[in-house]
Amino acid sequence: MRLTFLGAASEVTGSATLVEADGLAFLVDCGLFQGGREAWEKNRAPFAFAPRALDFVLLTHAHLDHCGLLPRLVAAGYGRDIHCTPATADLVPIMLEDSAHIMEKEAEWARAREEGRGGAAERALYTVADAERVADFVAAQRYGREFRPHPRVRVRFQDAGHILGSAIAEVWVEEHGRETKLVFSGDLGQPARPVVRDPVRIDTADVLVVESTYGNRDHKGMRETLDELVAVVEQTRRRGNVVVPAFALGRTQDLLVVLAELARAGRIGGVEVFVDSPLAAQATAVTVKHQATLDTDFQRVVAEAQRGELPVRVRFTQSVDDSKAINRVRSGAIIVAASGMCDGGRIKHHLRNNLPRAECAVLFTGFQAQGTLGRRIVDGAKVVRIFGEEVPVRARVHTLGGLSAHADRSALLAWLGAFARAPRHVFVNHGEAEIANVFAATVRDRFGWNVRVPGALETVGV
Ligand SMILES: [Zn+2]
Ligand SMILES: [Zn+2]
Repeated sequence: MRLTFLGAASEVTGSATLVEADGLAFLVDCGLFQGGREAWEKNRAPFAFAPRALDFVLLTHAHLDHCGLLPRLVAAGYGRDIHCTPATADLVPIMLEDSAHIMEKEAEWARAREEGRGGAAERALYTVADAERVADFVAAQRYGREFRPHPRVRVRFQDAGHILGSAIAEVWVEEHGRETKLVFSGDLGQPARPVVRDPVRIDTADVLVVESTYGNRDHKGMRETLDELVAVVEQTRRRGNVVVPAFALGRTQDLLVVLAELARAGRIGGVEVFVDSPLAAQATAVTVKHQATLDTDFQRVVAEAQRGELPVRVRFTQSVDDSKAINRVRSGAIIVAASGMCDGGRIKHHLRNNLPRAECAVLFTGFQAQGTLGRRIVDGAKVVRIFGEEVPVRARVHTLGGLSAHADRSALLAWLGAFARAPRHVFVNHGEAEIANVFAATVRDRFGWNVRVPGALETVGV
């Protein structure tokens, strides 16, 4: 059997692993590369396999760095099942159509910019129509229930506790009469977080592929994180706004639960939360639909909201006019908008308006990949370019590590500690090169396992 690491190899985006075994071929995830010029090229490179030759696709969750290249895959001729959990099946069409919409818009702007200069016309990576076709192939599979995507393969999804619908994939592949168990961690969540449940512990694997986004450090504790959030809101609200770049799916719902709980405890007041993202509104609706698979704290906040008793004022803005109206709010607003890494979506407008104001704050709550606008701000840039304009950074910049949707070093090691015996092969992916290597070394020291960090497009026999 062979595994080829098509993406998320020594980087955090572009998750995709090709598995080939005796004439059988399938993909685990088909993610978008994000951040910078290099990503632009990788997203457009020809697939390193024949899309029509794949037997099936397994999808761990609906974040774009895991599902964002599916429209290209389908456009290239793939026409079989894409297996994922029921919540992911609901989320994928929403996420992909939004992504395609942003791509079409940005290509349009780029064309308008280039027109005067005689440059090459920029084309969107895929269109909304391409994105819509993916929904035809999505097949929902429940957590904990085995299914057979192929006569020689059994699969079971387990809750990865990362975002709504996120899954760890347990995959049994039969080759020459012998069965090998592969486990793909997908993105693993941090235990004891709002909204999602804790990741399910897995105890056996012959081959394990594990993520390492935060494999070199621990998050701040939840209590410290909440104290910091309260401090930022209190310092800012009278004269300025707090701008929060957040993934529409996951972090936005976490924040709403946390803000509601802080308001109930009387720790924040006098603020209005604007969720300025139609995508976040849709993702929140899907989250409510699947609340039975989520934590009870989330179910309680939903019940409060449905009774009109939410202790904090929250407004979901839909239209562009509503969104623009937020520009006139000079203080007391917590503006939550996508994208989480600031490389697309309405967040760019809010940053342009609020970054130059020293009385405002920008609050990062998630990982910022290299090459993104978010990373430049976190790294302390004094000036950034947004929509071709130079924007001075005078607002205070904070990072709330404790709300991360990814397991930290200790949580990853605890999850690995549940394996009853050493997997034959362990591959560390979904982490920047340095971090993935540090984490691999830690796992080698701690467990004595056969661990390595595969290179991009590397094929390994297992
Ligand atoms: Zn994710
Ligand atoms: Zn990811």
